[in-house]
Amino acid sequence: MKKIIVTIDGWSSCGKSTLARQLARELNYVYVDSGAMYRAITLYFLRNHIDWTDEREVHKALGEIHLDFHFNEKTQSSEMYLNDENVEYVIRDLVIAEKVSDVAAIREVREFAVAQQQKLGKKKGIVMDGRDIGTVVFPDAEMKIFMTADNAVRVERRFKELYEKNPNVTIEEVKNNLEMRDYIDSHREVSPLRKADDAVVLDNTKLTEDEQFKLALGWIHDRKKAGK
Ligand code: C5P
Repeated sequence: MKKIIVTIDGWSSCGKSTLARQLARELNYVYVDSGAMYRAITLYFLRNHIDWTDEREVHKALGEIHLDFHFNEKTQSSEMYLNDENVEYVIRDLVIAEKVSDVAAIREVREFAVAQQQKLGKKKGIVMDGRDIGTVVFPDAEMKIFMTADNAVRVERRFKELYEKNPNVTIEEVKNNLEMRDYIDSHREVSPLRKADDAVVLDNTKLTEDEQFKLALGWIHDRKKAGK
């Protein structure tokens, strides 16, 4: 059957990557976590003390950044590499989450990331999650999903995830970070987070991972059958 592009956008910590990863595995598609790219760029900027309010510094720094995804057979998922270093773990830190939305709001940073994302989708057969995938990166994608969930549920989920890695993290910090990122992501000038007109909304507040997976898979199969 013809391969398609599946986009998954939505608010922070809605479980986009979990769903995207499951769908890609089931469909035998490539999974791309576009947020990981913005996180890796942020890591580079922080490590190298780049002043990202200075356009020239940003331009120069982007010229020194090489991003890649490599599939890890052990974990059965793709991992983010920054200049040949595996940064998949370190980019999940709250220190990165505190700055990533500011970095992702910069026009040149977005142009840099979007060009690579579009290249990855050239052959279709891809599931990509992020904030602007259905609106800007692949506006012609065959299947667009927009994910949402109640704030309290999202905070709780992200807190659990971060707490496992760092027991010093507080629920307040996580809550503030999610609210701040959602605000910046949906209010920035360049490709703000919004639902594409032709996206299907998936509210998973009351759904288990398995229920949301089956629901989304059903939509994809219908879409593929309809040849849209
Ligand atoms: O998806 P994740 O939470 O890892 O994304 C981290 C941040 O990267 C988001 O809060 C947002 O600022 C930015 N992002 C973006 N566009 C995307 C994906 C992520 O601006 N397509």
